[in-house]
Amino acid sequence: MHRHQTVLLFGPPGSGKGTQGRVIGSIPGFYHCSCGDVFRRIDPGSELGSVFMEHSSRGELVPDDVTVKMWHAHIRAQHGTGAYKPKTDLLILDGIPRNVHQAEMLEAELHILRVLHLVCPDEEAMIDRLRRRALKENRLDDAKEDVIRHRWEVYREETAPVLSYFSDEMVTEINATSSPAEVLREILGVVIPIQNTHFRRLQQEAGTP
Ligand code: ADP
Repeated sequence: MHRHQTVLLFGPPGSGKGTQGRVIGSIPGFYHCSCGDVFRRIDPGSELGSVFMEHSSRGELVPDDVTVKMWHAHIRAQHGTGAYKPKTDLLILDGIPRNVHQAEMLEAELHILRVLHLVCPDEEAMIDRLRRRALKENRLDDAKEDVIRHRWEVYREETAPVLSYFSDEMVTEINATSSPAEVLREILGVVIPIQNTHFRRLQQEAGTP
């Protein structure tokens, strides 16, 4: 089975995974996939859309089987249209796996080359970012203070343990409170060498000198 060559963007709500992922995903050779964005694009009137709304509006995770199935369908479709080219693109994955069970479910198909852990020492600054985003982007899950705080709790209890899945050398910590451009520079410093190595290997496999 083909394994997706993956760099995982990891961090709590508001840490900037989506912002960074979108910028990097616009560079040829990278493909950004945000699980939250995929969910938000689903028609809220559909069955899956209502399952998403029911959970996300409370700050809860969507059940694992539904999430992983939806993610597969999305990746397959993106591969089908050619938007994502698994052979040459590095997958910049954001928002999944979001708990240890999802990590186990995806283990066979994700080849995680590095985890970029966006670290936020100042929880209140992150929560403030989420409040401002809620106003701009009409995000129900960020609109209420108690829901935002609950999302942080879910992150600490369910998502953060995914980090122990990886060896220390695989995890690079990045200060998420720096400016977006500074965070981007740090992330590029990590992913460019990974992409170069990845392409060299592909060329060798193809027999190109
Ligand atoms: P943020 O980046 O602000 O943490 P996301 O946009 O990634 O938020 O996700 C928004 C909501 O979508 C989550 O609170 C959750 O309800 C749902 N969601 C996204 N990804 C997953 C996932 N891998 N498993 C379960 N639920 C998810």
